[in-house]
Amino acid sequence: MKVLRNNLTSFVSTSLVLLICVFYRDALGTSGVVLIAIVAAIFLFSFEAFIRRSALEKTVAIMKEHDPALFKELPESIEGMEEKIALWSKKQSEFLEEYKSREQFRREYIGNISHELKTPIFSIQGYIHTLLDGAMDDSKVAKRFLKRAAKSVDRMTELVKDLEAISRIESGLYEIQMRPVVLRNLIEDSMDALESFVAKHKATVEVVWEVNNDVVVVCDSARIEQVLDNLIMNAIKYSPAKSTVIVAISEKNNKIHVEVRDHGFGIPDADLARIFERFYRVDKARARSQGGSGLGLSIVKHIVEAHGQEISVRSKESMGSVFTFSLATVKR
Ligand code: ADP
Repeated sequence: MKVLRNNLTSFVSTSLVLLICVFYRDALGTSGVVLIAIVAAIFLFSFEAFIRRSALEKTVAIMKEHDPALFKELPESIEGMEEKIALWSKKQSEFLEEYKSREQFRREYIGNISHELKTPIFSIQGYIHTLLDGAMDDSKVAKRFLKRAAKSVDRMTELVKDLEAISRIESGLYEIQMRPVVLRNLIEDSMDALESFVAKHKATVEVVWEVNNDVVVVCDSARIEQVLDNLIMNAIKYSPAKSTVIVAISEKNNKIHVEVRDHGFGIPDADLARIFERFYRVDKARARSQGGSGLGLSIVKHIVEAHGQEISVRSKESMGSVFTFSLATVKR
């Protein structure tokens, strides 16, 4: 069938020659008709093959300039060349699809960034104008407005820092320095860093050791501390005030598992799969009022995966969430 389809022109031309021969069979005789038909068929089929081969060779020569690796060795047969061309065109359409989705992603990314920056910029603008319009004369009001403007500046600074981290990760500049670290020290450093945040929310953080607390892990301690800080801060932010967050450390399958558990607002099932995406937020108003950039969890995931480890989440709306990430231990 394929041969028939590929040689359709020759087939039609040969049939035409055959019809003409049959029409003039009296003058040519039976053997003459058969001979002419055979010669015509051979000639037309070879001619068709020749034309197709040179057309394909020209096409392949053009494609070779775009993808020398794919066309390094030219196939002998026409079918082989057609297969290569089909492969090339598949690669091109995959490339085009990826390009389109990147373009879409870029547009969304820029849209998200400007959206995130808009709120603090407008608020700073508002406070400055109000101060200039006379609020500056009342020192109490001026102080209050300046404090709010400063909060918006802090929010912009956080966002820019997170954006910088994301772009460093994506351009491969985010170096991970793996070293053996006593996990207890890392957790204590994280607790010290979060002291004022925890106090501000009147929260409590309990560390529960389900393994020996002198366990040594192999990681970039500054980065893993960043992961822990982020997860604990989220657990506090997305829980009512005065809540308790548990950091539980256990060992499973020769790996250390760090769990950050809260009994806060939880995450609806529909949002769970997207929670690690950039700028993804469950309750946008609540998340913004907490001052986050919406980039924290995506940075956390990048860091954990850069260590060759995994992070996962379990959550029930109104019940709470559990974020778990793994760490490699030192072989004992
Ligand atoms: P944000 O800066 O908004 O906190 P993250 O990337 O850290 O950004 O988190 C993304 C979203 O995931 C948050 O806006 C929030 O809706 C949800 N989230 C994260 N951690 C928790 C948690 N422990 N409990 C409930 N929701 C959470």
